[in-house]
Amino acid sequence: MSAKLPRILFLHHAGIVGGAELHLLSLVRHFGSRARVLLFSDGPFREMLDSTGVSVRVLRSKWTTSGVRGGTPRFNVVSVADVLRLGWATAEAMCDADVVWANSPRALFVASVAQLIRRRPLVWYLHDLLEPSHFSASGIRLIVSTANARANRVLTNSRAAADAFVRAGGRAELIHVLYYGFEVPPLSPEPSNATRTTGVFGRITPWKGHDVVLRALARVPNVTAIFVGDEEDPDYANELRRLARELNVQDRIRFLGFRENVAELMRSVGCIVHASTAPEPFGRVVVEAMLAQRPVIATNAGGVGEIVEHGVSGLLVSPRNVDALAGAIRRIFEHPAESRLMAERGRERAMEMFSEERMFRQIEQHLTEVLSDR
Ligand code: UDP
Repeated sequence: MSAKLPRILFLHHAGIVGGAELHLLSLVRHFGSRARVLLFSDGPFREMLDSTGVSVRVLRSKWTTSGVRGGTPRFNVVSVADVLRLGWATAEAMCDADVVWANSPRALFVASVAQLIRRRPLVWYLHDLLEPSHFSASGIRLIVSTANARANRVLTNSRAAADAFVRAGGRAELIHVLYYGFEVPPLSPEPSNATRTTGVFGRITPWKGHDVVLRALARVPNVTAIFVGDEEDPDYANELRRLARELNVQDRIRFLGFRENVAELMRSVGCIVHASTAPEPFGRVVVEAMLAQRPVIATNAGGVGEIVEHGVSGLLVSPRNVDALAGAIRRIFEHPAESRLMAERGRERAMEMFSEERMFRQIEQHLTEVLSDR
């Protein structure tokens, strides 16, 4: 840890684990004793944060836990009172922080209230695409106007997310793209060419497109799949099991639940499919697949097109296109030499664009600028 790092208070609303949380975890590790974390719900993410040794406090709130991680935060009399309460407690915690980092729209609202009591530079990391596929129009207006009024800087994970912010009325001079950074995993031995298994990694929730993968599997014989991820939406997960039986692919699919050893599991499959049906703000699993040097197939929407160059470092297909996905899976398994080359180029590209060192350097630069603008 560098002694020059500012003291930073991280705010986050969710207790579950997804991309935004894993990104925050790596920042908390980097800032070490200079960091403190306030969470607005308890859960497995708190346990992960505790393992870093950094001070973590949970201020429970019904408002922040209603619904899943994404989506539009809703307001009524009760939730407004809750946000004020959280804002008050956050202002107290801001006493010994040089800068506040809000890690979600809900955290941004709370930080904005806290700032009325105690002013500190506020950085908001926007992990989401502010588009109708993910948020209501009124929610987007509220989020963007709050950021315009209260944030000193907005950082985001892709050009696509930055453009959506500006299209929604966000101030262009406020927002900067700061790609996620990843640890580079060692390469364990490759699975044999005979491994005709695809892996789908991510929360099981409708817009991640697991149903499209099942339909594609039904068109490609002898290929099996593993679904790795938390069943965030249990109804959708049950619907997937029913669909698998209907398509008669139930014996070729395994649900593994949430796993911490994603890098290792990625190395064990012949190809990795990312099938999101709505534009993905970034798509961490796509970069992780490239770093694992596996051929990757991803849907071309949102930030994913910034990560993969079609036919060079992976294959891109249009969202919801079952035929295109089935064709891409066939291409990966029927052309092993081409697949191997794409996987090698993918790893090189991911190491170049998405290293942790680059990310931490850029974050420190942003914080220096924000603190010197005061
Ligand atoms: N992930 C995990 N265990 C699982 C499934 C996913 O640790 O069982 C991780 C995955 O490695 C990735 C993150 O969860 O780092 C998901 O990030 P992504 O940007 O792909 O999707 P998000 O959840 O943010 O929509």
